[in-house]
Amino acid sequence: AELGDTLLYLDNVTVSFDGFRALNALSLVLEHGEMRAVIGPNGAGKTTMMDVITGKTRPDEGEVMFDRTVDLTRLDEPAIAALGIGRKFQKPTVFEPHSVWDNFLLALAGDRRPRFTLWARETAEERDRIEELLVLTRLQEVRHHRAGDLSHGQKQWLEIGMLLAQDPQLLLVDEPVAGMTDAETAQTAELLRAINRTHSVVVVEHDMDFVRALGVKVTVLHEGSVLSEGSIDHVSADPRVVEVYLGR
Ligand code: ADP
Repeated sequence: AELGDTLLYLDNVTVSFDGFRALNALSLVLEHGEMRAVIGPNGAGKTTMMDVITGKTRPDEGEVMFDRTVDLTRLDEPAIAALGIGRKFQKPTVFEPHSVWDNFLLALAGDRRPRFTLWARETAEERDRIEELLVLTRLQEVRHHRAGDLSHGQKQWLEIGMLLAQDPQLLLVDEPVAGMTDAETAQTAELLRAINRTHSVVVVEHDMDFVRALGVKVTVLHEGSVLSEGSIDHVSADPRVVEVYLGR
């Protein structure tokens, strides 16, 4: 790929906590429009990597560039969010007392529509966008349900849809299928594939069936650096990956 296609560029990123290297010379390049799955055993540095991209943690060394020109290591969390880097954490944080519809409306309006102005009617444009999001997340039938009454899977899809409502340039998704049934997991892979038609995505996940269903390039982290990279078939046949996952 040409340099011009690069959306996210991490080079030699190191993060130390009291001398312990949570990230150790980590390098990763994400192309515009790409979806990447990042896997690795507990403690591999996946969360720390997401924290570095979103500005929650500042690296001790290395380069973190967005869209080739923006040095993310110089920006704080709100500035990075404002660039269009949206993160979904593992635990859903939907507005439980509000309906699915109103959750999407709040997400669409962002800061422009505080929760206490929900009585104000949505615009025709907002209505169309919410309908699209309901179809994409397969929440049409529960549009009037309280978010708090949704199943675990539905809450995750709602939150992914809310993230998308803010039209980020890059979506960071943290362990979306933890605690999901097999059917929900398959549907989540389908949702992320649909989102990837228009958006760049980094998804951190343990579930191998899910990663296989995504069908995208995989980066395997271990002890804070990249152990292996390529298709799921390539990395799962890599002896170093087998050793890390199955023990010696
Ligand atoms: P993963 O998400 O892949 O499980 P993490 O990025 O959470 O891995 O953690 C990588 C390593 O860094 C772990 O050994 C963890 O204990 C350590 N670590 C993470 N955050 C901190 C912190 N704030 N202080 C000290 N150690 C940390």
